[in-house]
Amino acid sequence: MTTPSTGFPLAGKTAVITGSTSGIGLAIAHGLAHAGANVMLNGFGSPDDIRKAVVAVKAESGSKVAYHPADDSNRDAVHDMIATAAQELGPVQILVNNVGVQHVEPLETFPDDQWEKIIALNLSSAFYTTKAVIPAIKAEKWGRIINIASVHGLIASPFKSAYVAAKHGLVGLTKVTALELAPFGATCNAICPGYVETPLVQKQIPEQAKARGISEADVKEKVFLEHHAIKEFVTTDQIAALALYLCSDMAATLTGVALPVDCGWIAA
Ligand code: NAD
Repeated sequence: MTTPSTGFPLAGKTAVITGSTSGIGLAIAHGLAHAGANVMLNGFGSPDDIRKAVVAVKAESGSKVAYHPADDSNRDAVHDMIATAAQELGPVQILVNNVGVQHVEPLETFPDDQWEKIIALNLSSAFYTTKAVIPAIKAEKWGRIINIASVHGLIASPFKSAYVAAKHGLVGLTKVTALELAPFGATCNAICPGYVETPLVQKQIPEQAKARGISEADVKEKVFLEHHAIKEFVTTDQIAALALYLCSDMAATLTGVALPVDCGWIAA
């Protein structure tokens, strides 16, 4: 049996992680930098918090870390982020499409602008970033693309029309990307988390309470953990560990799949 490599297995590789100033994206950034990758952070936040994030991720292994302020709903900004990463850090061969936002409301009153924003950020941005990194992946004959979808890329819940549509779309994009990049030493997979306690989930508490007519205090047990067979939140570090595995040589033949990390949600 071949043993996994140790040390800095991703040294010399450059990773772009969209939406990585908090939550799951930031944990993945730490994980990839720990493995030696150069990392481009992206997302919103105060200048001070972003500076702290850059310093903390850089401290993982001393690899290069930069930050790009692209609003990922803007195609030109996304292109500039990938080009800047290539220029400052090296050809982008690892792409984590993590950016995502949520809005919870019944379909008949679901605001059009929320639909458009969620489709733009949770789906279209992944199309633009993926397109932009393909030339480098083909040239280097190695690549890893990881799409952070959701359990809602595999099943639905009420009041999440745009999110469920976008995440199902992202799982579809994952499969096509996997097939097209297979001849070039590259894989593409989706990770489908259940509920992870991050700002994205905190923001849903009042929305879920209003849409379901329950108290905010009841949202955790009656909504978030209701479908988790293991009555816990998934942690950001658990998602980062899977992303790291998907970037390893041990996962070279694992492609085109959507992997649930969902406390048993979709097993039921
Ligand atoms: P989060 O709110 O903690 O992080 C979102 C990140 O995206 C932040 O860095 C934020 O600044 C950035 N961002 C938001 N709008 C942006 C924009 N227009 N342009 C660029 N960056 C922007 O959320 P999270 O929970 O860590 O979610 C990360 C991903 O994981 C999302 O795609 C989400 O759908 C998915 N996911 C989350 C959960 C969960 O329970 N938290 C479950 C399943 C899937």
